[in-house]
Amino acid sequence: MSAPLERLLAGERLSRADWRQLLEKKDAIDRQALFRRASEARRRWFGDAIYVRGLIELTSYCKNNCLYCGIRAGNSSAGRYRLDEETVLECCRLGYGWGFRTFVLQGGEDPWFTGERVARLVEAIKRQHPD
Ligand code: SF4
Repeated sequence: MSAPLERLLAGERLSRADWRQLLEKKDAIDRQALFRRASEARRRWFGDAIYVRGLIELTSYCKNNCLYCGIRAGNSSAGRYRLDEETVLECCRLGYGWGFRTFVLQGGEDPWFTGERVARLVEAIKRQHPD
């Protein structure tokens, strides 16, 4: 396994040069060894349990422009929406009824969702579903 990969798996932060070396030499990586290490890390943190989470797509607005992404700011043909609190709580209510006990709020980097707004939303969800 490459030296940068070993250091990454040991929890070190890699330099830009390390990342370049790692990504440019990806064919030289021992994939079986990498999969084994990934599986060990997964087992260390999560065991063999499966965690199911309800994914709520909060917003399709994003200030960034990652070229691979359908909702990047520069894609003028992307449909844009932003869920309001009432809709998010309704999604959680439905998901709770289906057995979900953890929800993920996912979306683009939408400046409308300030830290304060997200905190209020999370508080509202926790008020309705303390468990
Ligand atoms: S949603 Fe994520 S991946 Fe897509 S443009 Fe925004 S930051 Fe990039």
